[in-house]
Amino acid sequence: MPYSYDSENIFAKILRGDIPNATVLETEFTLAFKDITPKAPDHVLVIPKGAYVNYDDFCQNASDPEILDFMRACGQICKDLGVEEKGFRAITNAGEHGCQEVPHFHMHILAGKVMGPLLAD
Ligand code: AMP
Repeated sequence: MPYSYDSENIFAKILRGDIPNATVLETEFTLAFKDITPKAPDHVLVIPKGAYVNYDDFCQNASDPEILDFMRACGQICKDLGVEEKGFRAITNAGEHGCQEVPHFHMHILAGKVMGPLLAD
């Protein structure tokens, strides 16, 4: 399936520097910043700098260095948050059924409380 990337989405604007963000980590291929409406005491969004719509687009079409950089960034954020012992939840939503709001691939890293069941009934 071809992925159609909307370059006017809010994370594209963040990456262009058009709107501010609370950056927690920046690497060559990855940016991580605090979610503007946190759902947990710690709520970080990790995004690739490349134009990928969602997780499957990223996994299929990103380069190996981009994927490696992204995964290492997620690991670094977990380390910086100090969540190795208590744990955390990593979520990515995709498309209509995943209820994705922003069409630029992002991983939510949520921590600082017990998250409860994965999905509401
Ligand atoms: P999703 O539903 O998985 O697409 O999640 C999108 C997330 O982006 C939500 O948790 C929003 O709170 C978050 N968000 C939207 N706009 C911004 C922004 N300008 N800065 C930080 N987070 C944002």
